[in-house]
Amino acid sequence: MEFSSKLLENAVNEISQLPGIGKRTALRLALHLLRQPKEHTHNLSHALLNMVNDLKFCTSCHNISDNDLCDICTNPLRKDDVICVVEDVRDVMAIENTASHKGLYHVLGGKISPMDGIGPHDLNITSLVQKVQTGQVKELIFALSPTMEGDTTNFYIYKQIKDFEVQTSTIAKGISVGDELEYADEITLGRSILNRIPFESSLKL
Ligand SMILES: [Zn+2]
Repeated sequence: MEFSSKLLENAVNEISQLPGIGKRTALRLALHLLRQPKEHTHNLSHALLNMVNDLKFCTSCHNISDNDLCDICTNPLRKDDVICVVEDVRDVMAIENTASHKGLYHVLGGKISPMDGIGPHDLNITSLVQKVQTGQVKELIFALSPTMEGDTTNFYIYKQIKDFEVQTSTIAKGISVGDELEYADEITLGRSILNRIPFESSLKL
């Protein structure tokens, strides 16, 4: 692609780094940004800068947050002894949309996946085990996607905490294998949280 402007070329190159955006789409978006009032593009770039500079991760549950503790962790109406274990922040959003979980979350930041070089120590597992060790947690709900990596991760955590006084359950029922939580419809996902089954019995299936 030949550009008559180095400035335009730089912008197109940066935009085309986004997932699913090729050079042609990047050019179309760049020209759109040029055509609209400058103020709109300034607002967009400020929003992106503010996000990358100021966004935090909750020090307790690792959800994205504007403060040290997220709005869910600081909400006095949530049950702080029931913790739903999820892979990433998109799963928190998907489960919050169902309004079926009144407890807190723990965001692992991924799943154990030896193929991708992701081991237990790359995830927020130690802080979860520490929460259970305090004796404050009554129930852990495993809500990882029911893939081999999800099952491996559930089982790894289960082994770390099974000797403590904590109930473990899984939402696996109702969500078919291979579905990612964020794509499951709200009713199915909500029902699978309410109809969760003890984790031990999911191992025998
Ligand atoms: Zn939090």
